[in-house]
Amino acid sequence: VSGPGPHPLGDLAELVAGVLPPDRARVVGAHVAACPVCRAEAADWSAVAESVRRAAIAPSPELHGHIRIALASERATRPDAAARLRWLLALVVGQVRVVRREIWPASAVLMAIGALAAVALLGHGSAGTVFALFAPLAAGLGIALVYGPGNDPALELALATPASPRLVLLARLTLVVGWDLALAMAATLALAVLGAGGGMLALIGLWLGPMLVLGSLCLVLSVAVGTAPAIAVAMALWAARTLEVSRPTDTLLGPLGPVLDAVWQTNVLAVVVALATLATSLWLLPRLRVGPPVDLI
Ligand SMILES: [Zn+2]
Repeated sequence: VSGPGPHPLGDLAELVAGVLPPDRARVVGAHVAACPVCRAEAADWSAVAESVRRAAIAPSPELHGHIRIALASERATRPDAAARLRWLLALVVGQVRVVRREIWPASAVLMAIGALAAVALLGHGSAGTVFALFAPLAAGLGIALVYGPGNDPALELALATPASPRLVLLARLTLVVGWDLALAMAATLALAVLGAGGGMLALIGLWLGPMLVLGSLCLVLSVAVGTAPAIAVAMALWAARTLEVSRPTDTLLGPLGPVLDAVWQTNVLAVVVALATLATSLWLLPRLRVGPPVDLI
């Protein structure tokens, strides 16, 4: 993190004293503004210049101004914890405008379809199971649209911000997963009030694990191979699971049946799989990203 070229240490005293030729002063001043090493050195010379000024020799106010600005900008690059939290919050909220707009209504429509299908089946005891088909799909499709390479209209913008792509991804996930969880909880509350079997916790248990697993699967696929394959895999798994739930005695799915049964559960394994997949996605992200190199978290 130094300015361009070698440190102009030999020129700093003259720079601070204001006796460097203007052309050279501009070059050295620009370097000092970008270089902490030379800034510290210039600050020492500035202290010397200050004592010289007290000896009634006029300093260059312009140069003092430059150095003050340089020192202030160095302080400004070290934000405190509160400022950093505010910045993170602004980053998350800022993603509302940047993520694809169709994520919000698409998730809501799929959740509503699932809730309506569940209400239609209230008497059959499978209402929760039916809703647990749609809630994970809604989350998976939304997440697949969050950050796919080649499918991100705001990619250039994201790369130009001081936030790393990983931080941008986490901010967007926070928003989209928060939206899906809020929708699913509202639908579950409505189903519980209407008398769907088992009460709130049992109903949540039907969709939460599958939502985590399908969502994280869509995330890693969209990051690694793109949004379209992620959506295709999510739809295929959803169709297979729907087939399995609607015709449980058929063995059409073969060995996929037990896999789907294992996936559509809420347990420690689902949480572990989701976290491991999230970590894998974050690890992959900067390695697969095209464009200029970017800072890691
Ligand atoms: Zn330097």
